Amino acid sequence: MNKIIIAIDGHSSCGKSTLAKQLGNALGYAYISTGDMYRAVTFYLLENAININDLEKVKDALTKINIQFKNDGLGTRIFLNGRDIQDEIRQMYVSERVSPVAKISEVRTEMVKKQREIANGKGVVMDGRDIGTVVFPDAELKIFLTADVEVRSKRRYEELKNKGHKVDYEEVKSNLVERDHIDSTREHSPLKKADDAIIVDNSNLNLEDQLVHVLGLVEAKTTI
Ligand code: C5P
Repeated sequence: MNKIIIAIDGHSSCGKSTLAKQLGNALGYAYISTGDMYRAVTFYLLENAININDLEKVKDALTKINIQFKNDGLGTRIFLNGRDIQDEIRQMYVSERVSPVAKISEVRTEMVKKQREIANGKGVVMDGRDIGTVVFPDAELKIFLTADVEVRSKRRYEELKNKGHKVDYEEVKSNLVERDHIDSTREHSPLKKADDAIIVDNSNLNLEDQLVHVLGLVEAKTTI
């Protein structure tokens, strides 16, 4: 099968990463969550008490941030300057601060460069907000994943609760709504469906249904 780039964009907590991961496994492709990269930058800025309004400091921080993805056999994990931060960056305090960081054009330019390097010549499934529109406008397959906001909030709430985090449903929901608002209205690479992306609404689809559906779309692309 030809190696292709699959872009999965969509709203916050609609299951992009879960679907992308499964798809990557099924196809033997690399899987990259670009949201985790923006979360990693946010985590670094927080940990080093860097004010995001101080652009010079943010630019300097970007020169000190080294992001790597490693597969531990169970899945891909993100490392910041050699440290595994995969679990830490999914926590609410990072979710609450990531979208203002992802608005900064210097941050985006740096992340997009890295995303293109990672994918270089490989079969890859990449999920995010601007993969089909900006990072890989020529991606062979583009999916725009979405779901009802209550369904998304419930899934995210359950995920955090199951990991033992103390979370409030309304707080989780308002974070999703706010992130989607900031992400869709920002000037630089806003979240929007690429003209040639296929919309998948998974409000009433389980993971297996989604996987079968999207694998069918991949098959159709690779046999042309
Ligand atoms: O995918 P996830 O929800 O973890 O992404 C966290 C945040 O990172 C998003 O709300 C968005 O602000 C930012 N992001 C982005 N562009 C991407 C991926 C994520 O701006 N390609």
